[in-house]
Amino acid sequence: MSNILKVLAILVGKAIILASRLAGHQGSNLPGKAAARIYPPLLQVLSRNIIRSTMVITGTNGKTTTANMVAAIIRAQGNTFVHNQAGANMIPGITTAFINSSNWLGNRQLDYALLETDEANVPLLLQVMKPRYLLITNFFRDQLDRFGELDYTIGLIKDAVKGTGIELVLNGDDPLQSDFAAATGLHCWYYGFADTNYDSLTGADSREGRFCVICGQELEYVRFHYAQLGVFKCPGCGNTNPHPDFQAHWLRLTPNISFEVNNLAVESPYQGFYNAYNLLAAVALARLTGMDTEVIQKALAEFRPQAGRMETFAIKGKKIILILIKNPTGFNQSLNMLGMDPAPKNLFLALNDNVADGRDVSWIWDADVEILAQELDTINRVICSGQRSGDMAVRVKYAGIPADKICIQSDLEDGITAAVDEESVLSYIFCTYTALFASRKILNKLQQQYYAPQAGGTSLPRRST
Ligand SMILES: [Zn+2]
Repeated sequence: MSNILKVLAILVGKAIILASRLAGHQGSNLPGKAAARIYPPLLQVLSRNIIRSTMVITGTNGKTTTANMVAAIIRAQGNTFVHNQAGANMIPGITTAFINSSNWLGNRQLDYALLETDEANVPLLLQVMKPRYLLITNFFRDQLDRFGELDYTIGLIKDAVKGTGIELVLNGDDPLQSDFAAATGLHCWYYGFADTNYDSLTGADSREGRFCVICGQELEYVRFHYAQLGVFKCPGCGNTNPHPDFQAHWLRLTPNISFEVNNLAVESPYQGFYNAYNLLAAVALARLTGMDTEVIQKALAEFRPQAGRMETFAIKGKKIILILIKNPTGFNQSLNMLGMDPAPKNLFLALNDNVADGRDVSWIWDADVEILAQELDTINRVICSGQRSGDMAVRVKYAGIPADKICIQSDLEDGITAAVDEESVLSYIFCTYTALFASRKILNKLQQQYYAPQAGGTSLPRRST
């Protein structure tokens, strides 16, 4: 009987996946939800078809990019795997991914499962399956109204992994992860950066992790790589960065990223320090799971940014860059990147407050939008859009942008059209989650309508270092 239910659940799931694809939807949660209603243990049962290992990637920022990079490596290695899509990282979305990769009988074997999930979902996921590796990117403040306090979430993850035998792959530069080994008794692998030319001696944009997770004293930092990630030591209990198993040297952001880790030279068309961390995390996980170094190198060099992760468009001879923003730290990193590019530009900032964006938009006041005031010479216009366009406009004005450079266009299409039409060499389109896919659709449409190669070359100017 249970076998019949299993097959029925898979069939229903596959039918809904197909139907939503035909209707042009992403439809990533519904199939898993419907199938689990028919046969509740479906995810547990399908997860047993993984032959080699299951890897879970969590953390506040970068998990989608890191997971996509690891996926590219596994694919290049020629292995089969399940991988859930961005935005479908809770149990129903993960179930959908397994249904999609399964055959109708539910017994198709695959080499790997590569699952990205929200921090708060980790305990639930571990009740259903036992991964070999759990990789954590970083812990930053993210949509507190949905997840509750950061400490609480981190505590839940520690409790959930305790005694499981899972191997943790941790960011050795993140003080908020520095007690995982002691607190869980698990084997921990660490990745991190040696000193880089981009470090600062004072941290500006983060309040997380300033206090020791073991004794509560304020940490002393030798240097910051970015946000609270850096070289730290606790004057109270001596808590400090663990010895890294994967330490990256010779970081260059020109603006493309290159570094070397354990004799493996990594080069990537991505930009920004935060993406260097994503690359390093992906290399660590890929090496642990036995991927070949040449395969890793080639897959990362060829890996291109995807939807909202610095995807670029060419419209009317201009370069348009689409970026997802969801919390202060990610927003800060993207704003910092603007400073590396002296070309005249327009900014489009779309702020929505749907559930998936976080209903509370006060986080924009925690972001260091003041950075823009230092770039005034190169910013032609700032267009504020989305459901909370007014809030964004007020934030930008308080950051020191003159009112005559700010314009409010709540409608996404009108706003993006304005950003493209204004005089500039490039436009940055920043969007919160629910504005992202709508904006992407608009950009694709405009690109088809007004495609013209970009003037003056396609790459950003190099930063001398
Ligand atoms: Zn301490």
